[in-house]
Amino acid sequence: MSDIEEHRKKIEEITLEMIKLLKTRTDIAKQIGDAKASLGMTVTDEERENALRTQVTKLCKEIDLDQSTALKFLNLLLNESVKVQSDGKQTHLSVFLKAKALEEEGKKIIHLEVGEPDFQPPEEVKTALEEVYDKGYGKYGSPKGITELRHVLAMECAGWNKKLDDGVLTPIHTDNIMICPGARFAVYLAITTLLNPGDEIVVIEPSWPAYKDCALNAGIKVRTIKTTLETKWEPSIEQINNAINENTKMIILNSPNNPTGKVLPEKLLDDIIQTAKDHDLYVLSDEIYSEYANNDWKSVLIYNYEKSIVAKSFSKSHAMTGYRIGWVVAEPSIIEKMSKLQSLSLTNVSEPIQYVALQALKANTSENTRIIKSRLDALVKTAKDIGLEFIEPDGAMYLFAKTKYKNFDATKFSEKLLEHGVAIAPGEGFGDYKEFFRITAIDETKLKEGMTILDSVLKE
Ligand code: PMP
Repeated sequence: MSDIEEHRKKIEEITLEMIKLLKTRTDIAKQIGDAKASLGMTVTDEERENALRTQVTKLCKEIDLDQSTALKFLNLLLNESVKVQSDGKQTHLSVFLKAKALEEEGKKIIHLEVGEPDFQPPEEVKTALEEVYDKGYGKYGSPKGITELRHVLAMECAGWNKKLDDGVLTPIHTDNIMICPGARFAVYLAITTLLNPGDEIVVIEPSWPAYKDCALNAGIKVRTIKTTLETKWEPSIEQINNAINENTKMIILNSPNNPTGKVLPEKLLDDIIQTAKDHDLYVLSDEIYSEYANNDWKSVLIYNYEKSIVAKSFSKSHAMTGYRIGWVVAEPSIIEKMSKLQSLSLTNVSEPIQYVALQALKANTSENTRIIKSRLDALVKTAKDIGLEFIEPDGAMYLFAKTKYKNFDATKFSEKLLEHGVAIAPGEGFGDYKEFFRITAIDETKLKEGMTILDSVLKE
């Protein structure tokens, strides 16, 4: 046998041996997953993962292997463990689907788990839907969206921007905007196109589950930062810095936050952007609740940071969740990368819906802001009256609360509550928060009815 053939044979053997080891490792991970589930433990254990990381780094030094490659390989293995251990977690979506099935059987359900405004989109949307056919929208189009809509959105964003020293607004042009079928797809595109398998992202929990799920789907490792009620859901910059290593490529922000309603203070945002600059990280900022925020809210666009990507949507601000339309703001080079996958997977966002969105922008949505604020106030008041524990939200449409009972299992509680006709979102869907649950600020009459039932089931 020639040298090359001999080496190829060895490579083959090693590769097959590694696959067998992967099988053994996955089986053990499953067993650990079952044990964790029966003990009520969460899937991801950052401490345990860090301990493994340290061991791998040490071994790399001993055997003279490139550390970055080894850590990426470790990230793939850790993700496999997370995948096999994550089945069966209850999220707001799984509860929503169960509630829908009960409704189909004729049961009346009060939906406090949903993530959408329960009012109608503006009248402008109705008119636009009536006229869009005759206007001739409905052909294939640019994957980045129709120019007029991108242009108007660029103008809108200028309003959130900071004046530079010379008094000029940092410019946002049409080139900086891409239309997407909802902010969810924008998040998916950003994570999938800007990062590579084995890269790491930092996510601050509690968080909307899609960031983690998109990362897992793309083979990207999530480093979670746990915030608590005690620290008012605020991460420290030290926590963030400690989660960053040479494979970290992105940090995800969501302010106001789903589920806590937390608005990140400007000083912390300053520090986070500085850290991102120091480590050359992308900042993916999900700002879809910005219209429902208190006055402290700031867009990351004020920093004019070239690696920021802002995700926005018509879903919440214009109550257009089912229309599936949102947009991103980023540097043209980033937009270019994201639009390639959008083109590949969608061709373009529905033209008629883009036209409708363009008309929706003419509506005055300040009434929506007022309605959500007054509902949140009503929710806060009722939740206080029944003794729930929480931090008053700075924005968004939710309350993330726990009860006074020690070791309360909010997942079991949500199942029981659903039997009594009220759906809530269990906290475990947002991270390591088994004691918490999320309640949506819906119409006040229904909200009161739901909260009365919640209170009585809690007392049982
Ligand atoms: N981001 C956050 C934080 C959300 O809560 C949601 C929806 N619940 C989305 C994005 C998705 O928005 P869209 O409907 O625009 O896809």
